[in-house]
Amino acid sequence: MGQGLRLMFVGASGTVPGSHYVVSEGNNHYALDMGGIPQRNSVLENKISSVYPLPFNLKAVIATHGHFDHIGKLPKFIEEYGFRGPIYGTLPTLELLKQYMGKKAKFDRMTPILKNVVGGDIGIEEKQFLELEPRNPDTYDDALFLPSELRVENIKEWFDQGVPSSFSDMCNPINFHKHVPLTENLNFELLKASHIIGSSQVLLNYKGEKGINRILFTGDIGYQNCFFGEPEIPDSIDSLVFDSTNCDKDFDSDYDPREEIKQIINKTINRGGQAYFAAFTVNRMQMIMNFIKDLHDKKEIPDVPYFVDSPTGSKLFELYKNHSEFLEGVDDASFIINERYRIGKSSRKSKAIVKKSFPYVVISASGMFTEGRILNYLTKKGENRGIEDERNSVVICGYQAEEVGRTILSAKDSNEKVKVKITKGRGRNWSSNFYDVNAEVHELKNLSGHMYRDQAYDWIQKVNPKNLFLVHADHKTRKSFKDYLVERAFSGDNIYLPHYYSFHDIK
Ligand SMILES: [Zn+2]
Repeated sequence: MGQGLRLMFVGASGTVPGSHYVVSEGNNHYALDMGGIPQRNSVLENKISSVYPLPFNLKAVIATHGHFDHIGKLPKFIEEYGFRGPIYGTLPTLELLKQYMGKKAKFDRMTPILKNVVGGDIGIEEKQFLELEPRNPDTYDDALFLPSELRVENIKEWFDQGVPSSFSDMCNPINFHKHVPLTENLNFELLKASHIIGSSQVLLNYKGEKGINRILFTGDIGYQNCFFGEPEIPDSIDSLVFDSTNCDKDFDSDYDPREEIKQIINKTINRGGQAYFAAFTVNRMQMIMNFIKDLHDKKEIPDVPYFVDSPTGSKLFELYKNHSEFLEGVDDASFIINERYRIGKSSRKSKAIVKKSFPYVVISASGMFTEGRILNYLTKKGENRGIEDERNSVVICGYQAEEVGRTILSAKDSNEKVKVKITKGRGRNWSSNFYDVNAEVHELKNLSGHMYRDQAYDWIQKVNPKNLFLVHADHKTRKSFKDYLVERAFSGDNIYLPHYYSFHDIK
């Protein structure tokens, strides 16, 4: 029987990005996700990086899926803080993480700070590590009750066990439903989450004073799209930590994105234009590719070039192809009509396509128009004038958090002329220009990898947890979803909206 388990809410508690939770039994601490915050949120980033745990607080990390806001901080923790414990996740999740690690996956190329850590003797001096203290560790450590001697003990333990020599040695791919022991009283398993390729829920089983306690972290959780069916529903859940991202709107059951893509492409090509799809590279891009391939195979759209112009998207294309066992309802995971039209690293090839003025369709990134090659298509000059050309179509494929995407979207239903400021560049060279939005603007719906409110309600009802924690959404969304649940079947006493550092103890 265990001495009690503590769930700590460190990230994505009142915000969407930066998912990070810590589960502790005594001095054994485990992280569930270690998400990054997009740079534009720098105030939040500073706040969170200053309270993130030091790596020697942690025995292991369990990653739910390979999105930046769930694993984006892990490379920093490995590289700069010297974390060398095991990382658990499905194979696609770990492969996505490896892409974020980039060249850093080879430890010998790491920064001097890290060399201090892994190059030291086993008899580590405490002061060596205290230099790595974040700016304000007190709040975090107080909450975890972990004195600094014990933190040093933890890292000594890694050295005794042998420091892994590469990132791959730290990775432990886990299949769904395999029980992985963490302590004598605590184990976990991964369950299907239907969000992106390889995404998982984490189910913790804890042997406490009153028997087995089951705690389910949904990670990001979706509900039936072109790649996935329903996520798994485990029974006897005591505490459910639920992704409420989309719980301020219902699913539009009268709307079919495949049909809209078909209409957009036919209309655009018929008037001699080009269609630009701005898609998020993980999952959204592959979904659009899948729809287009299916439409083309069935001859529902014309035979023009269909380009996928994205270095990241191109790499992920391989991941989807190699792990198609993680996809449902897809017979052929090649997604793309013609292999020749996939543009990876080559910016020369990309520039050549941008210059062409004949009718074509391109899927590119970023999905929020803040960077990436999509901007070269929108801002092009010559016979075809990108976003200023009324023959063309700009297709928005997801939520727009930034000004540029919101402005383009506003042109969709506006009778007034809309001008959009587009900023392009790299390094220190950035420039902005205004463009008239003359192209037809479309917005695809129902493609989200997160459950909509009505789906979430049904699903939570089936899980029927004793305690429900709503996370991964702003406070307004969580509050309105809580009200929605209470109006229907749930008791508000057992629904929590945790903030940073909130914790929940389990006996
Ligand atoms: Zn996600």
